[in-house]
Amino acid sequence: MVTLDHVTMQYPTGTKALDNVSFNIKKGEFVFIVGSSGSGKTTLIKLLLKEIAPTSGEITVADKVYSKLKRKEIPMLRRKIGVVFQNFRLLKDRTVFENVAFAQQVIERPITEIRREVPATLTMVGLADKYKQFPKELSGGEQQRVALARAIVNRPDIILADEPTGNLDPKNSMEIMTLLEEINKRGTTVVVVTHNKEVVNLMQKRVVTLKKGKIISDEEKGGYRDED
Ligand code: ADP
Ligand code: MG
Repeated sequence: MVTLDHVTMQYPTGTKALDNVSFNIKKGEFVFIVGSSGSGKTTLIKLLLKEIAPTSGEITVADKVYSKLKRKEIPMLRRKIGVVFQNFRLLKDRTVFENVAFAQQVIERPITEIRREVPATLTMVGLADKYKQFPKELSGGEQQRVALARAIVNRPDIILADEPTGNLDPKNSMEIMTLLEEINKRGTTVVVVTHNKEVVNLMQKRVVTLKKGKIISDEEKGGYRDED
């Protein structure tokens, strides 16, 4: 599902955010990418979203070889990827329903399907009764569940989450992780970038640890490894 082949990302400032990184994520896997601040986690997410291009090396996601992808093919790639951020990134002036529906409108799903799929997805994340509310009327945990609903409503092949629990308390963090695990069990590949040690240790999934742009460990059913 995801391959990084000798990927280096050096910013114009000279910082090598990723340094010769190679790894594979298989279809259906659940993987944590961990590492302290500045280790290159967000850079990795941006590369996978094709927001930035690596200085060298090759990235392949869902059979798309990034260096060969034409500009007009990028929207199609992004449909295959659902994304969740630390700060939720919801549209403030739209309701819960409209936030999730928006993801379907941009890919021109018919209104009949939007009316069916948005409520079904909100039910899955436990927010069926809040569909009329605005983001500011929700708790942080609820806002992140809306963001998760928006990320999965188009049934992507893979979910990328960058510090999805960074603004949440332990209880809400575990709820988001449990939802991600359910989504994963339904067949979606899940990649979660985090430095939430508690969550990583509880989940017992594959853990890839970055330090200063390099992979320093990659373990099945790992716990959080202290790098320092
Ligand atoms: P993390 O998400 O693990 O905290 P980042 O990928 O954000 O790490 O950053 C990795 C390194 O790259 C850091 O040293 C950071 O300062 C640097 N960096 C990130 N984005 C940029 C940018 N746009 N320009 C220059 N340097 C950057
Ligand atoms: Mg980051």
